[in-house]
Amino acid sequence: MSIENTVQQFNQKVSHISALNGALGLIHWDGATGAPKASIDMRSRNIGILGGEAFKMSVDPAFKELVKEICDNKDEVDSVTYETARLYLKDIEKTEKIPPQEMQAYMELRSKSQQVWEEAREKDDFNLFAPYLKKVYEYAIKFAEYTGYKDHPYNAVLDMFEEGITVADLDAFFAELKETIVPLLKRIQKEGRTLRTDFLSRKYDIEAQKKLNMELLDLIGFDLNRGMMKESAHPFTLNLNVNDVRLTTRYIEDQMASAIFSTFHEGGHGIYEQNIDTKYDGTPVANGTSMGIHESQSRFFENVLGRSEALWQYLYPTVQKAFPEQLGDVTAEEFYLGINNAKASLIRVEADELTYSLHIMIRYEIEKGLFEGSIDMDRLPEIWNAKYEEYLGITPPSDADGVLQDVHWSDGLIGYFPSYALGNAYASQFVHKMEEELDLDALMAEGNYQPICDWLKREIHQFGSTQSPKEIIERVTGEPLNAKYFTDYLKKKFEKIYF
Ligand code: ZN
Repeated sequence: MSIENTVQQFNQKVSHISALNGALGLIHWDGATGAPKASIDMRSRNIGILGGEAFKMSVDPAFKELVKEICDNKDEVDSVTYETARLYLKDIEKTEKIPPQEMQAYMELRSKSQQVWEEAREKDDFNLFAPYLKKVYEYAIKFAEYTGYKDHPYNAVLDMFEEGITVADLDAFFAELKETIVPLLKRIQKEGRTLRTDFLSRKYDIEAQKKLNMELLDLIGFDLNRGMMKESAHPFTLNLNVNDVRLTTRYIEDQMASAIFSTFHEGGHGIYEQNIDTKYDGTPVANGTSMGIHESQSRFFENVLGRSEALWQYLYPTVQKAFPEQLGDVTAEEFYLGINNAKASLIRVEADELTYSLHIMIRYEIEKGLFEGSIDMDRLPEIWNAKYEEYLGITPPSDADGVLQDVHWSDGLIGYFPSYALGNAYASQFVHKMEEELDLDALMAEGNYQPICDWLKREIHQFGSTQSPKEIIERVTGEPLNAKYFTDYLKKKFEKIYF
């Protein structure tokens, strides 16, 4: 077959898979944002059929041949086709090494393990879940041996979510956090001033919240002509294509800040997707490159921008005007301080900007320990609680609010948590570079976000998945991951807030 023919066949299959994934995405969106409850059975059936077909196409040996042929003939094919094939090849090379029947058994285990986890959490009974978690780990460790790794078996799972990031990188990163953030939090707990937060739990009309959040989303640079925002129980972002990026937020009457920061967070994910070069549209390259880089964008909009003093200088009058009764007696400064209240808490998803990464550090240490065999699974609740006491100064009253709180491990997502913390670190490193060119505080204080979005598009967003996280961070900032930017940022910000 000529290479032109190969390219044509390959691109046809890619379009077909992309169409199936688009349909699956829409069904998922519909299910999460308001489809009738009774539609679930038929919807699940349709998802099964379409998802099965997309999977079959992507693992078809004939498709693999096309992928390999294109990757072997880089100079003779256009760059979009090559980048698309290269992405598929990476996937193929990883999954090929795992015997299909073991993968099948593992998928079944995950689905069962999630059910058991739910029950265990409800009954606050870790022992119920432990045998399943043990098996999930046995598979993860076995698969790491199949796919291969350098230096440490945990590197194999890290690589699946954050290509190129290693245990050595994360050890250095978390050591820096431990040295700076743990003592800072202890100092705040002991002698930090008390911040006013009473106004955050007043009642805020949901319709008025909706109007405000749409305005905020537009303001930070999300293009509402090429995207939309609805509501769902768990906020998420879905990119159907570059011109159709959808997000959700969640409104709670007596937690008005919750919707605002969900909107900023998902807005950050959405802006990333909208800014990818349209030439990649309809291929898997038109996606953010990794979970960590994606999270760096969402956290940038949620925290660096969204919880900054400069942004609220500009924005607060608008918010106060939308809620004159609730915020009439609150100054802009009080509002800024209130949304930055840092407090050790038990639940990761409710953690503030300062303490969030400590929750991740605990999960990282446990995952690595289980992989190495230095942590005994049966003692996990005890180990979990001891780490919460050591780093956050609190002890979970139950395993349901402790070691059983996250769904991730039951679903086989091991090596996934570090991406959340890496996102924060990447964001600070990008900002340090961005500030060489832009006066961020001045731009935020005048509500001018366009130059910021342009910078992000030029340096990060436009490339989609063509560059790995490591390549991006080094190209943009001129150095590898360096946690110091993040800890410096947190120290400077929270010392000013509390002392
Ligand atoms: Zn996110």
